[in-house]
Amino acid sequence: MHVLIVEDDDSVASALAAAVASAGHKAARVSRGEDALLAHRQHEVILLDLGLPDIDGLDVLRKLRQVTQAPILILTARDDERSVVLGLRSGADDYLVKPVKLVELLARIEAVTRRTSRSGQGTPHVITVGPVTVDLDRRVAAVETRELALTATEFDLLSLLARNAGSVVTREQILDALWGDAFLANSRSLDVHLTALRSKLQQPGFIINVRGVGYRVEGEPG
Ligand code: CA
Repeated sequence: MHVLIVEDDDSVASALAAAVASAGHKAARVSRGEDALLAHRQHEVILLDLGLPDIDGLDVLRKLRQVTQAPILILTARDDERSVVLGLRSGADDYLVKPVKLVELLARIEAVTRRTSRSGQGTPHVITVGPVTVDLDRRVAAVETRELALTATEFDLLSLLARNAGSVVTREQILDALWGDAFLANSRSLDVHLTALRSKLQQPGFIINVRGVGYRVEGEPG
């Protein structure tokens, strides 16, 4: 796995690079947003610090998202909830809080890459639930004729719920399916992605909260 580390702090960057290399991945590091935009093509996972010297990290994220499907993990300072929420809404797959714990970093990289590589497999088909159509092959979802601009994670979340239409999907199942581990995953990431997905769907009541259990969309997957 080729991992791009976008981080202007030398000591943080070298610690991340060592961690990535210790797991057998190849790490490359750039310290400016502009370099990240130039270098992203050679990499399968991107670790993105949000405080960069040249371009705001969130702008780098949005620009990267327009050109790559590679998983992007943002690195944030502790308690910077606003950046986390904005980052996830702008297309980040997950986030890591600095100082980044080695085990957590490696688990997240493994989880996001497993999810991304798996999503391309399986029999190509389209699921329709009520007004919502999910094209698993093209990875495009629509409400009637309105195509939705979903992030990779929002799409995965919607397709998981649509595949299980009519039954409850627990939070643990979602965390496990999307991030590979219900216990290491960020529960808050799920909330943010879910909120964003709902606002893009504009179908109040389509995704129903089953209090204390999980979520359900009504209907039969067709
Ligand atoms: Ca920084």
